[in-house]
Amino acid sequence: MPGAKAELCVIVGSGCAGLTAAVYAARGRLNPLVIEGMEPGGQLALTSVVENFPGFPEGIGGYDLVDSIRRQAERFGARYRSSVVSRIELDRRPFVLHLEDEEETIEAHCVILASGARARTLGLPGEKELWGKGLSACATCDGAFFRDQRVIVVGGGDSAMEDAIYLTKFASEVHVVHRRDRLRASRIMQDRALGNERIHFHWNRVPTALLTDAEGKVRGLRLQGTDGGVEEELTSDGIFYAIGHEPNTDMLGDALPKDALGYLTAHGVVSKIPGVFIAGDVADHHYQQAITAAGTGCAAAMEAEDWLQAQGLLQV
Ligand code: NAP
Repeated sequence: MPGAKAELCVIVGSGCAGLTAAVYAARGRLNPLVIEGMEPGGQLALTSVVENFPGFPEGIGGYDLVDSIRRQAERFGARYRSSVVSRIELDRRPFVLHLEDEEETIEAHCVILASGARARTLGLPGEKELWGKGLSACATCDGAFFRDQRVIVVGGGDSAMEDAIYLTKFASEVHVVHRRDRLRASRIMQDRALGNERIHFHWNRVPTALLTDAEGKVRGLRLQGTDGGVEEELTSDGIFYAIGHEPNTDMLGDALPKDALGYLTAHGVVSKIPGVFIAGDVADHHYQQAITAAGTGCAAAMEAEDWLQAQGLLQV
């Protein structure tokens, strides 16, 4: 019988948003099941030190932070499943979540979508090994490690300009590599970056290889001119990708509305489908901070609790 064994609440994603939702849902007796996803711990788990999460004056390791929230939720009864949701049927009740390659399904009365966004990468060989070790997509998280060093920022949008400007606080030189001869960034960000004498622009260049030294540390980028002509090496101690993010919404198809950038849109954390709530970066291309993700995770779980109660599905 459909629904007989349905979960009360399934949380999709185990970053800051999903795990905070798990803390609140578990304490609210929703017995949440967290499907951890492709990157357990989300983007935060890939961040070396988090210095802007309130409550940690000395900073805290990104992995340590998400692991603490994970254990906190577990203490109240949250359960975890190491798997990836490949598809969700939101036009049925209970909802049906397909795991991995469709081999298994889970039914759920209520779903909290906290699948996050992933930084776009260039797909160059060695990226995985260097990630968090000189190669990053988060200047705010990792910039301070490059005091008095040379760094490269790849990209020409607002994020790249913001990162480049931010990095001048620490780095001695910031080199922006962009694939065109004009920036995509807003005029004000362009003016600020172009007017900053510590930022050097390399136009019409695409990275073709990550360069490492004998110890395997980042040494720079090999660049190719977009006309196919020039090939050169640009040395640096750190590399920051700022070529945009992609929200993880593939599993939803067109079930929920998205904005022009592909992020989910909702009324706060409440989606247009009753029983489906949204938290974290999957619906946020603006703030994208651990603390804002945690805040929406909390709100989504509280909404879920109210909704399940109103349906008579939650015993008080
Ligand atoms: P974005 O606007 O999509 O810019 C991405 C940049 O990366 C573009 O310059 C793009 O080049 C380049 N790029 C993309 N794929 C690439 C590849 N494979 N190889 C090399 N370069 C590549 O992304 P974003 O900068 O993250 O901004 C996202 C949104 O957030 C935007 O709406 C932005 O305005 C907003 N935002 C605003 C602020 C602010 O106002 N302070 C700060 C951050 C973000 P092309 O230009 O050639 O396409």
